[in-house]
Amino acid sequence: MSAASPAPTHLREDPFALAQAQLRRVGETFDVDPNLIQVLSQCKKGVEVSVPVQMDDGSVFPFQGYRVVHNTTRGPAKGGIRYHPAVTQDEVKALAMWMTWKCALMGLPFGGAKGGVICDPKLLSLGEKERLTRRYTTEIINEIGPEKDIPAPDVGTDAQVMAWIFDTYSMNVGYSVLGVVTGKPLAVGGSVGRDGATARGSLYCIRTALQKQGSRLQDRRVAIQGFGNVGSNLASLLCDEGARVTTVSDSRGGIHNAYGLDVPAVIAYRAEHGVLQGFPGADEITNEELIEIDCDVLAPCALEQMITAENAPRVRAKMICEGANGPTTPAADEILEDRGILVLPDVLANAGGVVVSYFEWVQGLQEYFWKEYEVHAKLNDIVVRAFEETWSTRERHATSMRMAAYGIAVQRVAQATTIRGLYP
Ligand code: GLU
Repeated sequence: MSAASPAPTHLREDPFALAQAQLRRVGETFDVDPNLIQVLSQCKKGVEVSVPVQMDDGSVFPFQGYRVVHNTTRGPAKGGIRYHPAVTQDEVKALAMWMTWKCALMGLPFGGAKGGVICDPKLLSLGEKERLTRRYTTEIINEIGPEKDIPAPDVGTDAQVMAWIFDTYSMNVGYSVLGVVTGKPLAVGGSVGRDGATARGSLYCIRTALQKQGSRLQDRRVAIQGFGNVGSNLASLLCDEGARVTTVSDSRGGIHNAYGLDVPAVIAYRAEHGVLQGFPGADEITNEELIEIDCDVLAPCALEQMITAENAPRVRAKMICEGANGPTTPAADEILEDRGILVLPDVLANAGGVVVSYFEWVQGLQEYFWKEYEVHAKLNDIVVRAFEETWSTRERHATSMRMAAYGIAVQRVAQATTIRGLYP
């Protein structure tokens, strides 16, 4: 297997078709003009680019990349860039659409976008990853910009990748443009609190949901799928808050201890060994078993379509917090809803990342940087406000948290579209 080999996909259903079907349902539930739903069911613009990269062995491989803008009605497009072997154009389009709803739900002045390159970042050397990133940035350079479309990290990309995007763009225009990308390292205009922001937003959502149920985080048993930026930070934050993180996993499998894992020790073990397996005092489990584990909160923080019609009947969690984008299929959603399992949907539960991306963009434009407590407090304000709006919309419409969240978001974008009017 090489960094360029396409991988067997985790996607059983076309994610863009699912996103479009979700949107049509939202349109019906919230009585949105069908003309607008038709407009919003398409992506505004997308480019497919070839990214030739000189590999360390001297060969040249043309990687395939995408950048898709779904909507810019409420402001510049915003969304991450994914490096993963199973990236497809339809996946990027679905993720771009979800970014539009996420930004609208959070009340950010952004539209939605997403990018992706078909590659396995774990198998690329640092030099190969840098060359790939700089060439990909160059290929999409006319599409991105601080007033146009602002990338950020997503699955398989990190602050270092953002630094290369920032540098490549800035070298091309001739001066440093802090606002072109978010999730940058602190040394080059990043924001404090961005790294852990997605997980922190999830924490605020879980905490608020438990409060609504008259409960609290203390001693709640949590299972987390995925040990990337979101999963590992969420495990730490929950552990600090007194929750019992019983189960965690990465793409190769997971570990479980019903009494709770020592999260800092797990993080140190994985940093040393590169895997979770073999962590002392824990049983090994598969990612499939993790979804069905007995727990209070299940947080899928990896990829899409992990909870399906097939395994949803066996989910034993009382609450699901979607740290990943699209981890629950619509068919699974219905089963979970019927079973009374509360699902905190992606556009709400993982929006902390883009909220602090917004803060980073604002700080970059103003060249004035905030303190950590300010970032956390402002993040809490925005996420908890969106949670409360979603909760009350859910009660008013007797629907799910997902339909309520999408309903609020779609109505905001629809209203902005109507007020602006159709051009020309
Ligand atoms: N990739 C993240 C998401 O799916 C962050 C996007 C951003 O910060 O622009 O929300």
